[in-house]
Amino acid sequence: MSGVKSASESTPAPAVKTGFWKTLPGKIFASAASPSTMAVTDGIAQKAGGSYKSVEWIRNAPFFFMHAACLGAIWVGFSWAAAALALGFYVVRMFFITGFYHRYFSHRTFRASRPVQCLMAVCGLTCVQRGPLWWAAHHRHHHVHSDHEEDLHSPTLWGLLWSHMFWFTTEDALPTRSRYVRDLEKFPELVWLNKYEMAVYIAFGCACFGLGCLMHALGWQPAGHPMGLELGGYWHAGLQILVWAFFISTVMLYHGTYTINSLSHIFGSRRFETTDTSRNNWLLSIVTMGEGWHNNHHHYQSSVRQGFYWYEWDPTFYTLKAMSWVGLVKDLRGVPDAIRKQAGRGVAAAAKPVKAVTETMSEAASTVTEAANSVGEAASQVADQVADQVAQVVEKVAPKPAL
Ligand SMILES: [Zn+2]
Ligand SMILES: [Zn+2]
Repeated sequence: MSGVKSASESTPAPAVKTGFWKTLPGKIFASAASPSTMAVTDGIAQKAGGSYKSVEWIRNAPFFFMHAACLGAIWVGFSWAAAALALGFYVVRMFFITGFYHRYFSHRTFRASRPVQCLMAVCGLTCVQRGPLWWAAHHRHHHVHSDHEEDLHSPTLWGLLWSHMFWFTTEDALPTRSRYVRDLEKFPELVWLNKYEMAVYIAFGCACFGLGCLMHALGWQPAGHPMGLELGGYWHAGLQILVWAFFISTVMLYHGTYTINSLSHIFGSRRFETTDTSRNNWLLSIVTMGEGWHNNHHHYQSSVRQGFYWYEWDPTFYTLKAMSWVGLVKDLRGVPDAIRKQAGRGVAAAAKPVKAVTETMSEAASTVTEAANSVGEAASQVADQVADQVAQVVEKVAPKPAL
């Protein structure tokens, strides 16, 4: 499968405005198709980054193996207990991704002690979506370049399928983008976990196998062997839980998470006139425990909650709130009223100055975050004040609605 091709290899074509459904095939397969398809559907061939990006099949073999291993269910069979575990591990680990990898490591929307931070990294690693530094760095990169030529997973530029599950398989995307996570690199335990991610994957897989054996020891009998495979009781129980609770659950988790990079930039409504294509989608919020309010999030990334109102389903926020009550996390950052009031304001033409302020704000917030880590609690309070002031600046700069 080929990826995004150099702009210089094709003649730039002007943007063509066509209907959504007509351009849908191009949106889905743009990166797998010829650059001319991209040029016709999006008019961005010249902005394709000047580099040829393709899937590293060998280096990503473990990722593709995870999918193939789901077929193991044919031999180990089905049981309601195994399916319930698969679903349970999906929900719990979706929270690890949204609450820890996204809202903590990527955006620092709340605070935690160092041991809890380390535990959050280990929990996030059980999702088998690479290390916390890799994940946070690429996500911060996405926010800086959303739906512009540098964005690695813009479905409007590179196609739905590419943005869903291939963008991270290229040589360009495999390393951790260190310059985006200097604040996290100050913690050697996080750097270690980021480097030796495989250790947690293997440990979690073994734990799933062991859980099956333990269940069998306690009297649980897995269902029969559909393919006539004769296994001992413990082997059968261990392998069935391994296939369902680890492989199938993790692959479900992959594609649930990926919808935010792909579908949430295509389907849904736009409350805020951001300079990207992010959208709010209630269905994706159910699948991803609150991440579907992606337009809210792109508009104001500093908030721990992505559903800005009580009726916007955001169980990740509810769980973090509950964790704050018992002292596991603290200083959850909310949504300023000034931010909520910006809904519906602005037009595309007026987006530029807002984007400039937002980028400045993003850089300032990054610098302040680093300072906060160095000098501790006092500096963290300064960061909050700066963020609030910047929000007020955005409020002033944002264009007023036409009356
Ligand atoms: Zn984000
Ligand atoms: Zn996005």
